[in-house]
Amino acid sequence: MYRIPPAPLVQGVFASALLLTNTLVSALAAPSSVDAGGPLARLGTYAQSPKTLALIAAAIFVVAGIWLAIRRRKGLLLALVGVALLAATALGVREFRQRYPHQAVFNLERLGDSAAVLLGTDMRLSRYQPESLLVVEREKRERAAYPAIDVHFHLESLDSSIMPERLVQAMDAAGIAQVVNLGGTPGDFERFASTFTARYPDRFIMFVKPDFGAALKRRDGVAEQVKWVERAAAMGARGIKVSKSLGMGQRDSDGRIAPVDDPRLDPIWAKAGELGMPVLIHTSDTPAFFKAADGRNERYEEIISSPEWSRYGKPPSHEELLAQRDHVIARHPETIFIGAHMGMSEDNLAEVAARLDRYPNYYVDMAAVAHALGRQPVTARRFFIKYQDRILFSTDGGYGLVNQEPGWTPERLFRSYIEFLETANEYVEYPMWGAHSQGRWRIYGLSLPDEVLEKVYVRNAERIIPTAAAVAERLAGAAAEPAP
Ligand SMILES: [Zn+2]
Repeated sequence: MYRIPPAPLVQGVFASALLLTNTLVSALAAPSSVDAGGPLARLGTYAQSPKTLALIAAAIFVVAGIWLAIRRRKGLLLALVGVALLAATALGVREFRQRYPHQAVFNLERLGDSAAVLLGTDMRLSRYQPESLLVVEREKRERAAYPAIDVHFHLESLDSSIMPERLVQAMDAAGIAQVVNLGGTPGDFERFASTFTARYPDRFIMFVKPDFGAALKRRDGVAEQVKWVERAAAMGARGIKVSKSLGMGQRDSDGRIAPVDDPRLDPIWAKAGELGMPVLIHTSDTPAFFKAADGRNERYEEIISSPEWSRYGKPPSHEELLAQRDHVIARHPETIFIGAHMGMSEDNLAEVAARLDRYPNYYVDMAAVAHALGRQPVTARRFFIKYQDRILFSTDGGYGLVNQEPGWTPERLFRSYIEFLETANEYVEYPMWGAHSQGRWRIYGLSLPDEVLEKVYVRNAERIIPTAAAVAERLAGAAAEPAP
């Protein structure tokens, strides 16, 4: 319970002012949640969002305040200001609670921090953007050493201003031969097949995305999704994408979160094996997201800017999720699984290595984890050399390009990964939205040997992703086989 300690009046007033500022700033910095219940939200539906409503209310208060001031109604004016302050505080508290459910709204320590910022003895973390004074040589790499296959790319998240021509132009400039598109839900799949793949059949590899929510909720859901995989395979799909909602959010008809190893889903994994399609599976999230968002969390800034990513206090745990994925990989030795983002153990490569040793049908991609790999260049280099046959080049491209982050072009995205893999450049910004988005540090290049680069860039993907013709052949074979 928060209580202002007995103190002189001035100190009390100062504390209240800070408290109010603190709450208001937190609330205004946060985007409104439209889906909140209660009378405020019902009113809010008229005004689009509680924030719009608050702005309208503020405008009314200002107009009323000016009118009262002109009429010299001091008493009423004071009351109005009081009500406005109370309302603003209530709104701020409500927003804060929704956005940061695990943080106390009234926190003396934070109040002290606000005072320190006001007094100039400290600054807001977001203001701290130090520029490195390190002077060392930096090697440039325009193009990948081998015609690379990027196995983890999201056309569905690509800004619509990036047409196929623009993306292919960037791929050419950076030496990227092919991109695997993971946006393979019904509708999206056909759309990208007819725009990107039809225009550039040799540049885009399509993966199909089953709908696990539908699979678990509908009566014949799993059979329907198996059919969707087959239908997409007939349209040229060469692999399957599974997003992280499986295990963390996907509920079955009873409202329970289904585990990744839910046996009802087995026919989907089996079908993948039968058709020779690898399954690129994203399970769990980075371990920091499972920890409290406090001053000890190395991904603090990322979590507070997207609090909905926090897994703190929400079962299942990271370890449970990885164990569930392990069960699926072990149960389906005939199916190839690619653990997205180093299998989400990017900060513990020994753990990745143990799984690669245990499961010959397991591979990993390196998308969106260069920040983690590049801060352990010695360990990561050893790991890439030892497991050179099991790692796949990938960027997680699609998000954030061009419009969201100015200057963040597709060329820059590809090249930042190429620089990381090929050079020994020191203390450089990692790929993905600049140097702070995934932790406050910089990375070191791995300077991988040529034969390792060739496998990671091209050979491994070529080996495990079948041609569309090979998939079609297996599909025909499966259809010809009599049902057991
Ligand atoms: Zn992704």
